[in-house]
Amino acid sequence: MTYKAPKGTHDILPEESAGWQRLEATVRSVMDRFGYDEIRTPLFEETTLFARSVGETSDIVKKEMYTFTDKKGRSLTLRPEGTAPVVRAFVEHHLGRGRDLTKLYYLGPMFRYERPQAGRFRQFHQFGAEAIGSADPAVDVDVILLFTRILEEAGLGASSVALNSVGDAACRPRHVAAIREALAPRRDALCPDCVERLERNPLRILDCKVPACRELAAAIPSAIDFLCDACRAHEGAVEEGLAAAGIWFRIDKSLVRGIDYYTRTAFEIHHGALGAQNALGGGGRYDGLAAELGGPPTPGIGFAAGIERILSVVDKPTAHRPPVVVILSNDADGEVVARRLLYKIRTVARAEHFGGEGHVTKKFRRANEAGARFAVILFKDEIEEVRKGILTVKDLSAGLQDQEKQRKRQEDEFLNELRALVKREG
Ligand code: AMP
Repeated sequence: MTYKAPKGTHDILPEESAGWQRLEATVRSVMDRFGYDEIRTPLFEETTLFARSVGETSDIVKKEMYTFTDKKGRSLTLRPEGTAPVVRAFVEHHLGRGRDLTKLYYLGPMFRYERPQAGRFRQFHQFGAEAIGSADPAVDVDVILLFTRILEEAGLGASSVALNSVGDAACRPRHVAAIREALAPRRDALCPDCVERLERNPLRILDCKVPACRELAAAIPSAIDFLCDACRAHEGAVEEGLAAAGIWFRIDKSLVRGIDYYTRTAFEIHHGALGAQNALGGGGRYDGLAAELGGPPTPGIGFAAGIERILSVVDKPTAHRPPVVVILSNDADGEVVARRLLYKIRTVARAEHFGGEGHVTKKFRRANEAGARFAVILFKDEIEEVRKGILTVKDLSAGLQDQEKQRKRQEDEFLNELRALVKREG
């Protein structure tokens, strides 16, 4: 019997870790500069949190949740997205108390029972940001700029912002009525899900993936054509703000995000190289969400980005980082001294010990092949000196032949040099 990672999940292998860590470091660094603090919420929540916020009729809630009952009969769900948990935590811990705007970010796994395909997994990873407390369109612009800056610093070239407005409670009823009016006569051409949606939540028809429904949806009026004055002004201000920041965007009237809590601004960032699954991420405003979750009415906006998607289009960094120092010994007494020295060198740099029996030349060759910058020689003759803090160090940067490069060094001085080197080169 052999095991495999469950369908739709994947191991992040050692050779991939450097790419993940670099992207995560970029995310953390940009979030910090934009004034966002990290929040970590549980990987599972009460099922009703998602049903109420993401929406009963959304694909996520209807088809994609990993829901289970715990031993006390509570219904729990592995989080399919990050916004509802963050807003839940915001309300629960009164995080907005005493400030106008609370800026939070998260990074971690999400779970959706989707049909696995290129760029779609059942456990995938997102980072995201939420700015909660302000209805000012300048915050929408700032959130989009935060996203584009992360992508820029992650090394992504051409990505484009698609922008839309889905209106709010004031203008939505007119849009919903228009959808009903346009589609009621075409009922027979809709998929069974959409027939139900036509009754319960016609807006959901706009993100149906069935080709026949997509075709019909493309022909019906868009939310942005029904905006009330306040929503129109908001949308205009976001456009102006993006243009002023020099961000290239286009209005995509068909952009609806498959989640109920969105109001006004909706956006996605796409990358040409990704084909059908080309959204790196997206987000929008959710001015009614905090109140929906039992908190005081508090506007908010955020985005989520797919880490796997981003990593699939950026250059991969070198996976394995070679040791900076290798200690070479081949003597039982040397072994003990080498172990102690190794522990000390590892306070400042990546280091390994090639001990045990073996020919001196072979050990040098192995150190060289490992990509080490320095070999510390600790054969029989050197043991006493090392005990006194004098090291015999060979600089391997010029290869093995260069005898000039072998020198006696004071341990402290060598450690300082390593410290400086690591600071410079990592
Ligand atoms: P969403 O929350 O659906 O708007 O997703 C935001 C981003 O997360 C998408 O643009 C993708 O980059 C990523 N994403 C969403 N679902 C998946 C999935 N099943 N597998 C991999 N990445 C995903």
